[in-house]
Amino acid sequence: MGHPVLRQRSRPLEKSELLSPAFQGLIDDLLETMHEYAGVGLAAPQVHESVRLFVALLEEEPAASARATVVVNPEIVPNTTVKGEGWEGCLSIPDIRGLVPRFTDVTLKALDRDGRAVELRLRDFPARVAQHEADHLDGVLFFDRMSSMESLTYLEEYSRFHGKDGD
Ligand code: ZN
Repeated sequence: MGHPVLRQRSRPLEKSELLSPAFQGLIDDLLETMHEYAGVGLAAPQVHESVRLFVALLEEEPAASARATVVVNPEIVPNTTVKGEGWEGCLSIPDIRGLVPRFTDVTLKALDRDGRAVELRLRDFPARVAQHEADHLDGVLFFDRMSSMESLTYLEEYSRFHGKDGD
């Protein structure tokens, strides 16, 4: 937090650059970094690349074995007006948690790493992860979405009072 790229609106990727060794390498770096820090998602602006690309665990039960999804030029369409509050953290804001309202049912339209169009229906936690990561592409951090700062919590207190472990 504090790097200017995190607050910029990033640009879409052309299919030809997506398929280039440089961007395929960036995707591998994002996947490796997300796994290394045990995150559930990581967006390109978090490694200071201002392009519309993120990787995330979007399967229902995030687990070590869950396959990460590569998401390029995403569009998120809510399928409900209902927002639910849930705890979020961010690798760019270490050791902080807060309650964030998010749509509980969305459709994610994007390209995969090969430039093929994909469409995913996401509910609850995966929907939350996708909205959090897509926000990074618009320079938005989870603080900005909190309805109140009252729930802002250090990870240590989160573990003591609010949850079993960090995500
Ligand atoms: Zn984040």
